[in-house]
Amino acid sequence: MNEPDQSVATCAQMIDPFGRTVSYLRVSVTDRCDFRCVYCMAEDMTFLPKRDVLSLEELDRLCSAFVAKGVRKLRLTGGEPLVRKNIMQLFRSLGRHLESGALEELTVTTNGSQLARHAAELADCGVKRINVSIDTLDHDKFKKITRWGDLGRVMEGLRAAQKAGLAVKINAVALKGVNEHEIETMMTWAHGEGMDITFIETMPLGEISEDRTDQYLPLSLVRQRLQERFTLSDIPYKTGGPARYVEVAETGGRLGFITPLTHNFCESCNRVRVTCTGTLYMCLGQDDAADLRAPLRASESDDLLNTAIDEAITRKPKGHDFVIERQSSKPSVARHMSVTGG
Ligand code: SAM
Ligand code: SF4
Repeated sequence: MNEPDQSVATCAQMIDPFGRTVSYLRVSVTDRCDFRCVYCMAEDMTFLPKRDVLSLEELDRLCSAFVAKGVRKLRLTGGEPLVRKNIMQLFRSLGRHLESGALEELTVTTNGSQLARHAAELADCGVKRINVSIDTLDHDKFKKITRWGDLGRVMEGLRAAQKAGLAVKINAVALKGVNEHEIETMMTWAHGEGMDITFIETMPLGEISEDRTDQYLPLSLVRQRLQERFTLSDIPYKTGGPARYVEVAETGGRLGFITPLTHNFCESCNRVRVTCTGTLYMCLGQDDAADLRAPLRASESDDLLNTAIDEAITRKPKGHDFVIERQSSKPSVARHMSVTGG
């Protein structure tokens, strides 16, 4: 491991009331997106006015404050991070923390639509691995799920990413009756292309136009079905995120499961999230939050910001309590995933 960065004044680490060290920050750099995935957004979303959104310089300052407080892994997400104007400037400037060794990993979660034009530069900024979200390999179904997306373009992006030397992990939301019978095909495709793949259960975040109980497919069932045809062995592989991994003997590839609903993963949570307006959420599944934009904009020094972060970490809750049940059509949390970032 590299020596810590001397240019980043190190502050006290972030340790929450349950003794968990916060070392992973996910930042939603925009709430906007060029897709309208049915489980994520309504088609007629109202986006934030630009003045409420942190500038790229403010985002850099905010991220750097977290790095000084012990964040080792930083993921930019959204909305769609790669549709934000001049976003490469932010990757480029955050890359300095990789060079200095203060940050272990800078990464991104993307829908892949803009990857073809950005992949080489991402690699040049020090990004080594990326997550690309693809829920189906069927072009028509892809259009139905994303409403506005084009699978061909995303595939071009994947090729560009691999050519640039980026390791790609595919993220797919398991959707009952939609990609339920494609899971095996997607897994063998991803592994055949040298990519890891992770399946995610739908989370009850934000009002959407569909009924979530119709979409929810428990991954315990997915795993059970895969086990009828494949040999899955649990492995201790960790990427700092909530996925649990297995190795698939027949394909030699890695398969992850993110199961917020069937298996609570909160006990090992090392993450916090910031929205593009500078709101810090200590838990994806709870409403409690802290405003970091006011302290950020109130002074050029980071003292107020650091105090606000420290205070917020003392309020990190033990866990979430997502439920998807027939009786309640309301989401557990009103904000959309595109606000807090996946
Ligand atoms: N636009 C980028 C993308 O799609 O990868 C980044 C943001 S997106 C909100 C991050 C991840 O969250 C995606 O993999 C998406 O499939 C997932 N996601 C969105 N809404 C979700 C929900 N309600 N439940 C589970 N996963 C969700
Ligand atoms: Fe956009 Fe990602 Fe949400 Fe799809 S999941 S609408 S690509 S933010």
